[in-house]
Amino acid sequence: MDLATLKNTLSTDIQCREYLATLRWKNGFVCPKCQHNEAWKTKEMKYKCKKCGHKLSVTSGTVFQNSHVPLNKWFLAIWLFAEYGKKVTADMLQNELELGSNRTALSIIKKLKKAKLTTKIKKLGHTVEITQHPFDFRGQKIYVLVATEIIGNALGQIRIQKSEYRNKTQIIDFIKNNVLPYDLFINDLKPEQKKKQVGIVTQLLTQEDMGSDYNKLIKSPSYQYRFTKKVLYNFKDWMYMKCPKDKFEQGCKIYCVIHNSKYISMTFEELLEKLLLQKVRK
Ligand SMILES: [Zn+2]
Repeated sequence: MDLATLKNTLSTDIQCREYLATLRWKNGFVCPKCQHNEAWKTKEMKYKCKKCGHKLSVTSGTVFQNSHVPLNKWFLAIWLFAEYGKKVTADMLQNELELGSNRTALSIIKKLKKAKLTTKIKKLGHTVEITQHPFDFRGQKIYVLVATEIIGNALGQIRIQKSEYRNKTQIIDFIKNNVLPYDLFINDLKPEQKKKQVGIVTQLLTQEDMGSDYNKLIKSPSYQYRFTKKVLYNFKDWMYMKCPKDKFEQGCKIYCVIHNSKYISMTFEELLEKLLLQKVRK
């Protein structure tokens, strides 16, 4: 949805509520009390369950309930966040939405960020560097497996995971769990892109470990893994600053989530649906 359409079609409270209802009850109305699937629409824009009589509005039990920010402003905030992501600041939101307080803007941003973080992230594609590195972490020697996605000539998503040294089964599982099946995107390429190297770069596996899949790997012995080096540099810095000694694995996960959140793009509709699912404190 573009901004003009949003402003034209979702400007009144009724329009916004009707739109929310189509998202919330995509597969039809469901009563939260008795799970019945039919309701009457009342004059005051509420829904009344035909079986148990429970009345609710389309915002009941969602982050929009009890919010003093009108829905059309919420929608604008969601649109801006979907379009500009992290660039959206509380000051900007306060201005654009003409909100009375900065605290309100901050609380909206917090909810939007949370909605974005609950998105299931996609597996890595394009060219993926897979390497293993030793890491001296607060007096312990730990090995990490690293997967670094390279899109064109830019860094994409990453995965970092604690591992045993050169454990082949673990390396293969790591690839399976985190990287798209790589012949899939090799075949998807247009002929002019085929020259570019797309697939997995690693020197950790041999023909014996992988069978015929081995032929799909990029195995240049002089490959520099320069993207992974950059990732590790920042990762180590962050871990020393933020991660306690006994929380290494959690640290890896959090670091990846923070890094990858920059690469998750969501549309206005997807973000709005996530917000509808967000648990609210009663
Ligand atoms: Zn009911």
